Amino acid sequence: MKTRMIIVAAPSGAGKSSFVARAIEEIPQLVDIITFTTRNIRKGEKNGLQYHFISHDDFKAKIEKGFFVEWAKVHTNFYGTSYESLESTWAAGKCAIMDIDIQGVLTFKSKYPDAKTIFILPPSIDELRRRIEKRDGGMPADIEVRMANAEKEIAEASKFDFQIVNDNFEQSYAEFKKIIEKLLG
Ligand code: 5GP
Repeated sequence: MKTRMIIVAAPSGAGKSSFVARAIEEIPQLVDIITFTTRNIRKGEKNGLQYHFISHDDFKAKIEKGFFVEWAKVHTNFYGTSYESLESTWAAGKCAIMDIDIQGVLTFKSKYPDAKTIFILPPSIDELRRRIEKRDGGMPADIEVRMANAEKEIAEASKFDFQIVNDNFEQSYAEFKKIIEKLLG
C-alpha cells in the first residue's frame, strides 16, 4: 500500500519545521497536518498556519469529546492532532505529513502501524541550544526542559524508520526529500 502517513520528529530546534515546510511546497501529494496547541503564539506565527492556537479550556473540552487521535503534554504545553485533519487528507487521496513529539509518534505507530517515521538529529546538543536561542530571540523560559527532553528524544532515534542529521540544510533536505519520494512511490 502507498504510504498515507509520514511522521517527522526531532528535538525542539533541530530544524524539522523547515524540512516539512519545504517538502509541502515541493511535493504536491503531501498535506501538512496542522495540530492544536495551548502554547503562546511566537513572533511571526499565525493562528491556523503553524498550529491552531487554543486555550487550555478548549483543549480539555476537545479531549473529552474524543476530538484528538493523539494528544500529549510536550515541554510545558499541550499538543494534539485531530481525527478530522487526517480523514480529510485521506479522503482526498493524499499523504499526511506531520511534525509531532516522540510520545505522539509512539501513539501513532500503535494506532497506525503503516505510518512511516523520520527522525531529524541536530549535529550536536550545543548547536541545538544555539539554534533555539537564535530562533526565539533569546533563551525561552523552558529552555532547560527542552534540552533535557532533547537528550531523551535523541536516545530514541534508532526506533525510527529513517534518521537524518541536519548539519547542512540543503544536503540534509535532499536526503529527506529522496526518502519521501521513495515512500510515495
Ligand atoms: P513547538 O512548541 O516548539 O512548536 O513544538 C514543541 C513540540 O511539540 C515539537 O516537538 C512538536 O513536534 C510537538 N508537537 C506539535 N504538535 C503535536 C501533536 O499534535 N502531538 C504531539 N504529541 N506533539 C506535537
